Amino acid sequence: MDLKFYNTLTRKKEDFVPIDPKLVRMYSCGPTVYNYAHIGNMRAYVFMDTLRRVLTYAGYKVKSVMNITDVGHLLSDADDGEDKMEKSAREQKKTPKEIADAISAQFFDDLKALNINRPTVTPKATDNIPEMIEIVVALLEKGYAYETDDGIYFSVEKFPRYGQLSGINLDDQKSGARVEVNDQKRHPADFALWKKAQPNHIQQWDSPWGMGFPGWHIECTAMSNKYLGSPFDIHTGGIDHIPIHHENEIAQSECWLDKKCVNYWMHGEFMLFDGGKMSKSLGNCYLLSQLNEMGYSAMDFRYFCLNTHYRQKLNFTFDTLAASKTAYNRLLTLLRQHFDSDVRTEERVLKAFDDEFNAAISDDLNVPMALGVLWKMLKLPKSKDVCLLAQKWDAVFGLNLDKLPQPEKQQVNAPQEVIDLAEERLVARKNKDWAKSDELRAKIKASGYDVKDTATGYELSKS
Ligand code: AMP
Ligand code: ZN
Repeated sequence: MDLKFYNTLTRKKEDFVPIDPKLVRMYSCGPTVYNYAHIGNMRAYVFMDTLRRVLTYAGYKVKSVMNITDVGHLLSDADDGEDKMEKSAREQKKTPKEIADAISAQFFDDLKALNINRPTVTPKATDNIPEMIEIVVALLEKGYAYETDDGIYFSVEKFPRYGQLSGINLDDQKSGARVEVNDQKRHPADFALWKKAQPNHIQQWDSPWGMGFPGWHIECTAMSNKYLGSPFDIHTGGIDHIPIHHENEIAQSECWLDKKCVNYWMHGEFMLFDGGKMSKSLGNCYLLSQLNEMGYSAMDFRYFCLNTHYRQKLNFTFDTLAASKTAYNRLLTLLRQHFDSDVRTEERVLKAFDDEFNAAISDDLNVPMALGVLWKMLKLPKSKDVCLLAQKWDAVFGLNLDKLPQPEKQQVNAPQEVIDLAEERLVARKNKDWAKSDELRAKIKASGYDVKDTATGYELSKS
């Protein structure tokens, strides 16, 4: 299968050619674990997961890395403000590690509920500090960085290609800059590689520049290079990362290693709430657990995400989530009906649908279109073959299409006491208690019903 991806760097859809023909190496910017990840964040990880699933479906082995930022991400992108982890720790009267452990555990639970396959490696920034210091030392030695009273900064003017990913212009930034908080910075876009710590900063490490902690951007350069090597194939993140975080990653890695370090940059668009920004201050950053409490499952939400292409804004409203829930349940019901039919579908017909599915997912992960192909296929006359093909595609969708609802027939018409007998008989059969099973069959019969065993349970009909 030939894949095409939209590369933010070249602003084009390109043929995907991995460095190693068999193994794809990808890196995704992970969460800063100071607060629970909301459903907007989760959309970013559904995108990461879809990419990995499509690569795997296309036959590649994938090594994927997603970092956990547990230090150094400051409140402001201009390298000032408090460290997000330290702020949470102070407010909750806990240590940054306690916060990071609790938030990370919840995060991985959410990924699991959403069928987001855990990346191969999920390194923590605090476990990779020596690697970060080594890069900062090298950048200073090569003249790309300089020391100020409060840290080590990267000099963006030393990297002529700075701005290539986002199209920003350094001269415009200079003239339009607000009054700098840090007057030792040589250019407003210069960014901290390392910050010297105030005594009250809880997480700090010894370095050639005294006690301190890393800047957020250097974390991703250190961990991607350590676990994937350079260059690697794909780097993902949300679109908010393009202008600063990823621009800075490119600058520092290319200056450190004297080569291009990432071949494809892919970015997921944002989730909006009622057409506007999702923000904690507006109180509209819902968590997956809150959706659950309102009766929406993780799969309802995953289906909702998959219905919009990753490069398009996705407007979250409860009406559209409810519509997704209905559609998802309908999908499962239809699949069950196909599963229960022994009618065959012609190979040629199935192949045409399969080709259409492959064309959709290989065209820059067009999963909404692939879902369209699925719905179209479900309109075919009921046939188990249709269900089996849909279940094969679920390697890409990750929608639990193998977990079909109980056959509808068993619920209809039969009174509850007969269903109870049939359920009891199902348990007896699972326990190979045939005598009890026969006894229950007789009771069901005496109530005027016949019970038939099926692959997934039983079917009741009037005698
Ligand atoms: P953070 O923990 O804030 O660094 O964000 C984690 C990930 O979620 C990043 O990849 C962001 O780009 C992404 N993200 C944040 N807010 C949204 C949103 N509203 N919609 C989609 N992705 C988001
Ligand atoms: Zn990153």
